[in-house]
Amino acid sequence: MSVARISVDVPTRDADRPFDYAVPAHLEGWVEVGSRVAVPFGGRTLQGIVLALPEDSEVDRRRLKPIADVLDAVPPLSPELVELGIWMSERWLCPLTVALQAMLPAALKGKTEKYISAAPNAEWAPLDRFEQPELIEALERHGALKLSQLLQQHPERGAAVKRWLAEGKLEERQQVEDRLSVKTVLTVVPPSEAELRSALLALPNRAAKQREVLAYLLANREPIAQQALAEAAGTTTAVIRSLADKGLIGLESVTVQRDPYAGRSFEPSAPLALTPAQQKAFAPIADAVDREAHRVFLLHGVTGSGKTELYLQSIEKALRQGREAIVLVPEIALTPQMVERFKSRFGARVAVLHSRLSSGERYDEWRKIREGRATVAVGARSAIFAPFSRLGLIIIDEEHETTYKQEESPKYHARDVAVRRGQRHGAAVVLGSATPSLETYGAAIEIAPGIGGRGEEVVPVYVPLPERVADRPLPRVSIIDMREELRLGNRAMFSRALADALRERLARGEQTVLLLNRRGYATFVMCRSCGYTASCPHCDIALTYHRGSRNLRCHYCGYSEREPEACPSCASPHIRFFGTGTQKVEEALAATFPGIRVIRMDVDTTTEKGSHERWLTEFRERRADVLLGTQMVAKGLDFPYVTLVGVLAADAALRLPDFRAAERTFQLLTQVAGRAGRHELPGEVIVQTYEPEHASIASVERHDYRGFSHQELRHRRALGYPPYGRLLTLTLTHEQVPLLLSMGQTFAARMRERAAAAGAKADGRIGPGGIAVEVLGPVPSPIARLKDRYRFQCMIKYQGNPDVPGWTAEVMKELQEGAKRHGVQLAVDVDPQMML
Ligand code: ADP
Ligand code: ZN
Ligand code: ZN
Repeated sequence: MSVARISVDVPTRDADRPFDYAVPAHLEGWVEVGSRVAVPFGGRTLQGIVLALPEDSEVDRRRLKPIADVLDAVPPLSPELVELGIWMSERWLCPLTVALQAMLPAALKGKTEKYISAAPNAEWAPLDRFEQPELIEALERHGALKLSQLLQQHPERGAAVKRWLAEGKLEERQQVEDRLSVKTVLTVVPPSEAELRSALLALPNRAAKQREVLAYLLANREPIAQQALAEAAGTTTAVIRSLADKGLIGLESVTVQRDPYAGRSFEPSAPLALTPAQQKAFAPIADAVDREAHRVFLLHGVTGSGKTELYLQSIEKALRQGREAIVLVPEIALTPQMVERFKSRFGARVAVLHSRLSSGERYDEWRKIREGRATVAVGARSAIFAPFSRLGLIIIDEEHETTYKQEESPKYHARDVAVRRGQRHGAAVVLGSATPSLETYGAAIEIAPGIGGRGEEVVPVYVPLPERVADRPLPRVSIIDMREELRLGNRAMFSRALADALRERLARGEQTVLLLNRRGYATFVMCRSCGYTASCPHCDIALTYHRGSRNLRCHYCGYSEREPEACPSCASPHIRFFGTGTQKVEEALAATFPGIRVIRMDVDTTTEKGSHERWLTEFRERRADVLLGTQMVAKGLDFPYVTLVGVLAADAALRLPDFRAAERTFQLLTQVAGRAGRHELPGEVIVQTYEPEHASIASVERHDYRGFSHQELRHRRALGYPPYGRLLTLTLTHEQVPLLLSMGQTFAARMRERAAAAGAKADGRIGPGGIAVEVLGPVPSPIARLKDRYRFQCMIKYQGNPDVPGWTAEVMKELQEGAKRHGVQLAVDVDPQMML
């Protein structure tokens, strides 16, 4: 009898260790590292992942419980992915099962189902049969019944089931089941022509409908879905079923692939001849792929420099070597054009993974990869876990985007995972961006530490691509000082320059992209008489006004209330909506430019599945003059007739309490500016701001990434912020403040003790051995209350690689019992990206 070491899916920190189980003889050979199994655990049956098949166990073998079941014929995780999960749980301090589950499609997050059946020696009394004839009949007919289904359909039978379970007449069994399975369709398989003809002869004339079905099959002798056949023959599925019952046609259940891109055709595209600049950038990447060498590249190419073509040709190379490729894009729903370009080049070899797919579609795309039918995976963050076994290349497009860091546990960063998988596979990793994150850029030009996992940091090879293809110029950028506009008496939303430029575009039939930068700049409600602002009663967050429903809504917990007619605090009628929402801009456009056709893209207009794509198609087909939106219009779009980009409120996010605010603003403005003039027509960009001197804005005018980033990196170095120092935050939440304060103080004190023992100086300055550790807090989090729970945080800022994550894990373990007893939740974020 062998032993399996298993991570059981109980996502609490006190059960966060592997457990040993016995492999029963009949499952021997099926249990591998990466197998998904069902195991008994504390009276329940739960899902687990096999981590190892150790020679020996510390537990007496005879006392090991046996594995109940193996859930898949092919293990969903490879040994490499299991090892990656272990690494992630240490790197980002999360329970191992959480890291492993993150790599599985949602459909495989098994749920436990209970089944009841008659006990082997059960005897039904006449009274039982009198009381519950149907229940007993169903048990006799089916053997076992799914309890949840039974109670849903016949709640009145619950009492009898309970009693019979207690009396031992019924038995209960638990089984782990997938939330979804492969999809099958009833398909008619036509018999031979001769058989069809004799069947037609055998049918009486009055069976006209059945005869029509047979006649159709005689003319089209291909397997066809039952439903489609019924429609084609102008009849119902009942008619088809009666033919099958008579044995005249075959009816089979056939597995089908749910294809999110079914019915869409992609124009095949051939590789383009690379420009000399592209060739120069391509050479080192192509060389690494050819030699199957692990190298990380930073492809720093300005917008429209032809990075995507380089991605495509690198993938081509990897595929020719019989290897596979992963392409990460920030948010696939926003960039349908990217998917198109990959599908056009590689056709059916491409699997697409993203959150807008149904979980059934995602499961089927994932199986295409696991079963070797797809060799290229294109997707958002979690596609980094695509279960390939011979990875040759990983590409992260727009590598600076914040969506690559997951904000819930496991709080992993896809860039670090990519570097790790690249190392294990000997694969090249290409990080592409026009505005690389300062971490990656600083590392690549060797003025900051390397990137990736702690202790195994890498220095990316810097590959610049400084020009647009075909000598197209970068668009001309003008910065408009809105204070000056006000001084000259223009109180409108649009500066004179922007209004004139827009009017010109309308006259010439060209298109405009308008960005309203509104992070942290929501439309909030304020009383002009007393200063009251409407905020959520459960969270410390201003409520947002939604004009459509005339509601005030909390974006964190969903609370909503009616728009007030008078101030709830002082009863003044002078209560007003502040801030500029996209709806307001849309109204102003309509008023200023009569007849203008505007597409508005924001959270309100894009909740429906496929809506992004519909809006973008409409815009591309030039059925609108202006594409107006928030952050989502800034990314990846490539439209030939866009010759003007306007930015409203460029500085809106600059004052957010986040040390990356300047970097994010610069990136956003550069990205959106890059949407203009990407083809034959030259582009122009107009940026409206109240802070024209700010480096984030002034550098955009000169397309000066280098100047901006060097200045910002100097600043970061002086303050010990990433990439020079590292951060870790611990957030504590509870209904009561005093408890949070005392537990936060205990955490901070114990971290300080460990820092002192490691040689860090108490004042936070760099001490002997280059180590500095600053423990800040506990202080209220930027969002101080959420869903009626208060939030406090401690932040640790450290340099010189002391083991702060390791200490944190220790101290959290020490605090665990008290936290559990009082219901305090602890959440840790290693290398946080969002400071809000
Ligand atoms: P990026 O991803 O760097 O923003 P793209 O890959 O979208 O740039 O390229 C911008 C435009 O230039 C696209 O329309 C693309 O088809 C075109 N392009 C790229 N490389 C070439 C080339 N070698 N020859 C001609 N056109 C090219
Ligand atoms: Zn709320
Ligand atoms: Zn008031």
